[in-house]
Amino acid sequence: MRGLLVGRMQPVHEGHLQVIKSILKEVEEVIIGIGSAQLSHTSKDPFTAGERVMMLTKALTDNGISASKYYIIPVQDVACNSIWVAHIKMLTPPFEHIYSGNSLVQRLFIEDGFEVTEPPLFNREIYSGTEVRKRMLEDDDWESLVPQSVVNVIKEIDGVSRLKHLSRKEVSERIK
Ligand code: NAD
Repeated sequence: MRGLLVGRMQPVHEGHLQVIKSILKEVEEVIIGIGSAQLSHTSKDPFTAGERVMMLTKALTDNGISASKYYIIPVQDVACNSIWVAHIKMLTPPFEHIYSGNSLVQRLFIEDGFEVTEPPLFNREIYSGTEVRKRMLEDDDWESLVPQSVVNVIKEIDGVSRLKHLSRKEVSERIK
């Protein structure tokens, strides 16, 4: 059986890694959709789809998860929610089961006849993209919330400077 998890992963954090490990206890293969793949270079979505693929691939490898167990597929948003599930199905290998904590994602797949599981959240107050980005902006400890390989990727692409620059730009444009 194959399962699907879709997430923006801005950036990949320990919660994503834990949920992928728990999904792989239930299914043979997991498809990981990198959502909102068209977005990057904003304070809410700072990283490109390619950077997020790199973060996830390295984190899964470092955690001993074989490449034969997963497919990572960037998925752009579509304007109409009612055709999003068809759009996902067009891009991914076939799957039978959905895992998501996002209520819109759950609803769209349920209406298409899929079984949806809401996986348990691990330390959601700290393991969230919003918290990681907030700590990056405040020079607080964000590194403990993400796998070491993600720290390395974010350093390689100078991601914290990018986020701070984008955030300053958005604030100054709001003031204009
Ligand atoms: P996310 O990265 O916040 O979370 C993805 C999943 O990871 C969650 O559903 C949850 O199951 C898991 N997770 C997150 N934190 C966790 C933690 N601490 N512990 C355990 N599990 C945790 O992403 P998201 O916001 O759910 O992503 C949904 C994507 O689907 C977005 O990119 C959105 O744009 C896309 N989408 C698009 C359309 C459309 O294009 N019309 C419609 C619906 C959804």
